[in-house]
Amino acid sequence: MKIDNQELVALFGEQLASWEQAGNNYKALENVIVKELVVEGFPFKVQFNPARIVSSSAKVDAKSITERKCFLCSENRPAVQKGLDYVYKGDFQNPYTVLVNPFPIFPRHLTIPMLAHTDQLIGGRMGAMLSLANQLDGYTLFYNGPKCGASAPDHFHFQAGNKGFLTIEEHLHKMEKEVLFTNEIATVSSVKGVFRGLVAIESSEAEEAERLFGLLFSRLPVKEGEKEPMVNILCWYENGVYVILLYVRDKHRPSHYFAEGDANILLSPASVDLGGVLITPLEKDFHKMDETLIAEILDEICVSEGENLDIIDKIKTVLR
Ligand SMILES: [Zn+2]
Repeated sequence: MKIDNQELVALFGEQLASWEQAGNNYKALENVIVKELVVEGFPFKVQFNPARIVSSSAKVDAKSITERKCFLCSENRPAVQKGLDYVYKGDFQNPYTVLVNPFPIFPRHLTIPMLAHTDQLIGGRMGAMLSLANQLDGYTLFYNGPKCGASAPDHFHFQAGNKGFLTIEEHLHKMEKEVLFTNEIATVSSVKGVFRGLVAIESSEAEEAERLFGLLFSRLPVKEGEKEPMVNILCWYENGVYVILLYVRDKHRPSHYFAEGDANILLSPASVDLGGVLITPLEKDFHKMDETLIAEILDEICVSEGENLDIIDKIKTVLR
């Protein structure tokens, strides 16, 4: 089932007009403060965004999750929130709904949950992500693993934001890459620099991108107590090429998140942050953020150099 992009534009207009909270938050976004910092040659933006406090400070432990009403289940959503249905490859049993995200980071920010209340696991769903990236004109898709920034780890969902916002979209071609695999359709590479454990798949065909993702994802390390490797994923389609950026994570939240007093920084890194836009819901943290802090936070949440080399080895072996 195709998404009608005109209907999507209409949905945005209608939701911002009829839903006061969403309308106010999108209006507030026009005035958020942004500063730019370069770390190891990579251009970051830091966004002071007070409305994101809900997500950044979300309690995502098992007890808190079972005790709260799931905000992505249709019966708990506000009556005013409307969506567009999306079905991937005729799977009418598991439809998705394209919704306007009422707590935006992007000027156009979507949340795309499955109808069914089912765990946030990406295995078997990359095809749907690639298809959505193709169909949603002008959007970059993203996925946050359950301990990698998802505030609903119990309800499967993608998100999407308008292109031209995440700095990595523009900067990717300038980053040093080690090619791990290539054929006439696709290339898999390890992206060097500030994000250790970043793997890129670039493919002219969705099926090949999905196949390669499945193969290498199956070889990534899974931490004790987890069902899948800890990852964030960005995915977009541009000029006939699908791009998947897979960030393999070591840690959910950096030590700064738990620090006491002045050392505390409320920043819970997820796909958007790793795409180059760091979200600080508190003004004091926005002012504190500098090149050293960004480097420290990334150093903690990304895999170590040794683990990265191990991941590269495994990917080379499985794709050979
Ligand atoms: Zn749910």
